[in-house]
Amino acid sequence: MSGIVIIGTGEAGVGTAVALRTKGYQGDITLVGDEPHLPYRRPPLSKEFLKGDALPETLMLRPDAFFASSRIDLRTGVHAHSIDRPGKKVRLDGGETLSYEHLVLATGARNNVLSVPGHDLDGVFGLRTLDDASRLRARLIEGQSIAIVGAGFIGLEMAAAARSAGMQVHVIEAAGRVMGRAVSTEISTFFAEAHAAAGTQILLGTQVTALRGNQGKVAEVVLSDGRFIPATTVLVGIGVTPNVDLAEAAGLVVANGIVVDACLLTADPAISAIGDCARFPSAHTGDLLRVESVQNANDQSKLVANRVVTGETAPYQSLPWFWSYQGPLRLQIAGITTGYDSTVVTGDRAAGAFSVYCFRHGRLLGVESVNKPADHVAARRILERGLLLSPDEVSRADFDPKAFALGAEASAPR
Ligand SMILES: Cc1cc2nc3c(=O)[nH]c(=O)nc-3n(C[C@H](O)[C@H](O)[C@H](O)COP(=O)(O)OP(=O)(O)OC[C@H]3O[C@@H](n4cnc5c(N)ncnc54)[C@H](O)[C@@H]3O)c2cc1C
Repeated sequence: MSGIVIIGTGEAGVGTAVALRTKGYQGDITLVGDEPHLPYRRPPLSKEFLKGDALPETLMLRPDAFFASSRIDLRTGVHAHSIDRPGKKVRLDGGETLSYEHLVLATGARNNVLSVPGHDLDGVFGLRTLDDASRLRARLIEGQSIAIVGAGFIGLEMAAAARSAGMQVHVIEAAGRVMGRAVSTEISTFFAEAHAAAGTQILLGTQVTALRGNQGKVAEVVLSDGRFIPATTVLVGIGVTPNVDLAEAAGLVVANGIVVDACLLTADPAISAIGDCARFPSAHTGDLLRVESVQNANDQSKLVANRVVTGETAPYQSLPWFWSYQGPLRLQIAGITTGYDSTVVTGDRAAGAFSVYCFRHGRLLGVESVNKPADHVAARRILERGLLLSPDEVSRADFDPKAFALGAEASAPR
């Protein structure tokens, strides 16, 4: 058997298989993933599913029957062991080999482990998989205490879910502000205040030095300043490491991700890498980026499928966008705002509905919107079209992002 082999059954892997068929690819497609479940979406794991508002079957990316009817040979619970590049074969655990014309690595990422004494006690969790989320969901019990290590998106989404379940919640963050790697100071401050107002204790600039247990079960978190926090559940949300082992062992270049070119090809023309595991050159700056988002996984899967089917070598240049839902707050981000040097805030911060426009040297990098979906949609339009928007324009009392996007588009030279 030959054709396309895809390793990884997340958004990127499934997206590639679906896009290949949509584009009319007629050959064999084999989709291999080591998780036991039908392919599923991760975002609800820290949101609706955690709160009990979604059943596992509603998370599935496609119904079971879809794969057979689309002639996609889905292999779940199967780990890909190694790649034989000269022979164009993938060896699976158990010894079976799959030949490929083209191989797509969509191996995603895994949670970083908190390397302190006690990290392996009972009651200490990560949140990446459906199984993780199912275990954590069973721990959301009113009156009990949870300590969350890391105030990133997942840590804060978990904090919101645990508070709404009536738990005592501590969030411990080594950096000086929440979501510090991803958002502006304005958004960090607003979200820290909102979580504190909901009753969550946020400890910034604080490290965990140990987890202590009682009869093998976690009981308290020891902090760098000598304090300790009682907790019968600990969620560790301190980022992820891309799954590059397969690529690295096959001699492909890896550096915080599988390194690919602008078309998402590795140095081997028969192997692409996409999604959370891939590091690609930014269309805007040329810097190598690794983006962890559904948008990125989906758009990259479509680009690779198109290249495989049509031979077109278009560079990847989709606008990154993200979301995070924390209790009643809907954060949506268009663009990547890291490295901004000035901001303009619009809307009503006190009412919890506003946007932060982030600029660098007067050029718009991105827009972070809280409970302002229309601003987010307009911001994506502005950034995707490369429309010039200055801080002065955004500061005008009558600034309307939707009208600006439509007006600038209409007057832009064709
Ligand atoms: C709890 C949670 C909430 C999130 N919320 C959001 C959100 O709100 N918005 C957003 O945009 N993004 C969110 N994300 C991120 C988003 O889900 C990921 O960026 C996206 O799912 C990445 O998809 P992927 O296919 O690249 O990787 P993955 O989903 O990680 O899939 C890779 C798969 O490959 C498998 N695999 C790895 N190596 C092998 C091997 N050798 N053999 C076989 N299988 C292998 C892995 O086990 C995994 O199943 C969230 C992530 C998590 C964990």
